[in-house]
Amino acid sequence: MTIVVKVGGAAGNERSPVLEELAHRSDYLLVHGGSDEVDRWSGALGRPAEYYTSPSGVVSRRTDARHLEVLILALAGKVQTELVAALGHRGVRAIGLSGVDGGLLLARRKSGARAVVDGRVVRVSDDLSGTIERVDAELLRSLLGLGIVPVIGPPALTADGEIVNVDADRAASAVAAALRAEALVLLTNVPGLLERPDDPQSRVPHIPVGEVDRYLPLARGRMRKKLLAAKEAVAAGVGRAIIAPSNVPTPVERALKGAGTVVA
Ligand code: ADP
Repeated sequence: MTIVVKVGGAAGNERSPVLEELAHRSDYLLVHGGSDEVDRWSGALGRPAEYYTSPSGVVSRRTDARHLEVLILALAGKVQTELVAALGHRGVRAIGLSGVDGGLLLARRKSGARAVVDGRVVRVSDDLSGTIERVDAELLRSLLGLGIVPVIGPPALTADGEIVNVDADRAASAVAAALRAEALVLLTNVPGLLERPDDPQSRVPHIPVGEVDRYLPLARGRMRKKLLAAKEAVAAGVGRAIIAPSNVPTPVERALKGAGTVVA
């Protein structure tokens, strides 16, 4: 059994319970985002982060060349190195791979990104973001076969050799699909998809994969991407996808036992 665990980077996420737990497992790959860290460094380097909302309501990071530089420094540099070190400290032999390493995540650059600004739809210019089209599953299997845990994060590479930002939830979904993983566990800072985002008791426990679209209107901002990532993974043959909280003891085991929102 192989599972893909994705850890979030927004405030309210907890890393140590996940890492503690993963140190006792041997059946996983780790995928990371790190939006807070990217925002922090963007601000510190005088390139404040910007987000835009697409006409369908999905929130994305604006990634022009200046923002992409910061993203590479913060994600492929700091966040990934720290995760590998933290796993290593717990006795896990881990290797950090951005999607660029070994051509792991091959993406197509998005060309038609659109944003809603003051009620009008405008084109997003100079956007260096992409959609993942292929994952080198063989590379990942080889590492797993050697007892090495891949720690994977954005950015990705295009066939033209361009570095592009990709959404980490979608990257986790693509990795899980390529490996036909048993489960995709998207750990985040909320108990799952909530009927009412400000009410933690309003968790939606289960969504049949064919009904995800019906639940999309409940999800605002980046939760929308998690639902889409969950749907894509299950549609591609992953056993189930679970959106679950990271700030509890043994978050992965709990998620696998049905905590959070299970898409199957
Ligand atoms: P992470 O960095 O953990 O991946 P994100 O910020 O990308 O987290 O996504 C989780 C956020 O989605 C939550 O903190 C919450 O603010 C937001 N959200 C929007 N709509 C919902 C909803 N219906 N249920 C739960 N969370 C939601």
